[in-house]
Amino acid sequence: MKENLEVFRKNAYEFIDWIVEYLRDVEKYPVKSQVKPKEIYNKLPSRPPDTGEAIEVIFEDFKKIILPGITHWQNPNFHAYFPANSSNPSMLAEMLMSALGVQNMKWETSPAATELEERVMNWLKEMTGLPESFSGVIQDTASTSTLAAIITAREKYSDFKINSDGFKDFENLRVYCSTEAHSSIEKAVKIAGLGKNNLVKIKVDEKFAMIPSELENAVNRDIENGFKPVCVIAALGTTGSTAVDPLEEITAICSKYKLWLHVDAAYAGSALILPEYRWMIKGIEQADSFVFNPHKWLFTNFDCSAYFVKDKGNLIRTFEILPEYLKTLSDNKVNNYCDWGIPLGRRFRALKLWFVIRNFGVKGLQEKLRCHISIANNIADKIKCDKEFEILAPVTFNVICFRYKPDGKTEEELNMLNEKILHSVNSTGKMYFTHTKLNGKYTLRLVIGQTNVTQNHLEKSWKLINETAKSLK
Ligand SMILES: *Cc1c(COP(=O)(O)O)cnc(C)c1O
Repeated sequence: MKENLEVFRKNAYEFIDWIVEYLRDVEKYPVKSQVKPKEIYNKLPSRPPDTGEAIEVIFEDFKKIILPGITHWQNPNFHAYFPANSSNPSMLAEMLMSALGVQNMKWETSPAATELEERVMNWLKEMTGLPESFSGVIQDTASTSTLAAIITAREKYSDFKINSDGFKDFENLRVYCSTEAHSSIEKAVKIAGLGKNNLVKIKVDEKFAMIPSELENAVNRDIENGFKPVCVIAALGTTGSTAVDPLEEITAICSKYKLWLHVDAAYAGSALILPEYRWMIKGIEQADSFVFNPHKWLFTNFDCSAYFVKDKGNLIRTFEILPEYLKTLSDNKVNNYCDWGIPLGRRFRALKLWFVIRNFGVKGLQEKLRCHISIANNIADKIKCDKEFEILAPVTFNVICFRYKPDGKTEEELNMLNEKILHSVNSTGKMYFTHTKLNGKYTLRLVIGQTNVTQNHLEKSWKLINETAKSLK
C-alpha cells in the first residue's frame, strides 16, 4: 500500500506538470479534432491486457492515441455549441472529489457533502435573484433536471396516482414548449410516459421567443378536445439563438389554468448573476421549477446542473424510496438528496461549485460574464458593418447568429455556401464553431464563453470567417 502510494505520488506530479503544459499550450492544438471515424478505435487493441501495465505506458498511449481524437473545449478559440467551460479552482476541487471518492446519496454517507450542497445552492439563489423560498439540488445535467420536473408535474397532477397505479385514468396529458425549445424536453416527455405526440410546440415570434397568446389558444383547444394540460416549459436562452420566452405572461397563463411551469435556463441562467439580466425572471415566484447549468457558463467543470423547486415536498414525494437498507436515524432531520431526483448515487459536485464561487468571488464571476458579453457585442458590430453579412437573431448574451449573404444568391445557394464556410473554417483547426437553422436559414453560430477567451481571439476568428467566406463566394 505504502509503496503504491509513492508510485501514485510520482505519477500524480508528472500528470500535473503535463496538465499545466497542456493548458498553457492548448491553443497549439487544432480546436476541432481532425480524425476520421474509427481512426482512434482501430488504433486500440481488440483485447484487454491480461496483466497490469505501468501508468507511464498507458500515459504515453493517451498522448499518442487519445489526444489527437480530442476536441479542445478549453481552447479559447472554441466557439461551438455552448461552452463546457472549466477553471483552475474547479479542476482542483475535481481532484479532491476523486480522492475522497464520496457517494453523496444520503446525509449520513457524508454529512459535509449534503450540507455544503444546501449552502452553495442557497448562495446560487442569492447570486441569481431566485426566490429565497425555492429549494435547490444539484443534478448531473439539465436533461435530468427537466425530466425530474416533468415527472413531478405529472405526479402532482395525478395526485401521485400514476406513481402508484400507472396511467389507467390519466391519458392524454399535455406538455407545452416553444418550437425553439431544447430536445431534452421531448426526450423527457417520452421517458415520463406521456408520449411525444402530447408535447405541443408553440409558435415563436420574430425574436424566436414563445408567443403567449398561441400558448393560451393551444391550451384551450386541448381542453375542448378532451386533452389534459399539465405542464409548460419556458426557455430563458434557447439553444439555437438564446431567445428568451416572456416569463411573466407565461406565468399568468399557467396560474389561470393551474399548469406546472418549468423554466429551462440551462445556458443563459448564469447571466442572472448580473443584475442587468434579472428582467428575464420577472414573475419567477410563480414558477414551479427552474434549471441552469453552472457547467456551461459558470466555470464549473461538467457535470453540474443547478435545479430549484418551489415545493420540495412534491419533488421528494415523487422520487422518495426507502428500502430497509437505506434507513438511517437522521432521516427526518436532514436532506437526503437521493430522494430529490433520479439516481441513487451522486457525486460530490457541490465541492467544485464552492471552490469556483469562493475563488472567483461573485464580482470575479460577474466580470468574466460581462467581458464575454462585451466581446460578443463588439464582434456583432463588426459583422453588422460588413454589408455582405447578416445578423439573424438578437445578440442578447454572448451568442451571435449570422450568415454570409452576398448579392444574387438564392436561399438554397446561401444555405450551401454557409455550410461550406463552416466546414472550411473548422478544418483549419484554428477555431471551431457550429450552426443552427433559423426560419429555414442555415445559420452560423459564434459563442464567446470559453473561460480565457479575449477580444483578440475573436478578432482573428472573425477575420478568418470573413476571408474564408469571400474566397468561397
Ligand atoms: C444545453 C441545454 C440543455 C441540455 O443540457 P444538458 O445539461 O447537457 O442536459 C437543455 N436546455 C437548454 C436550453 C440547453 O441549452
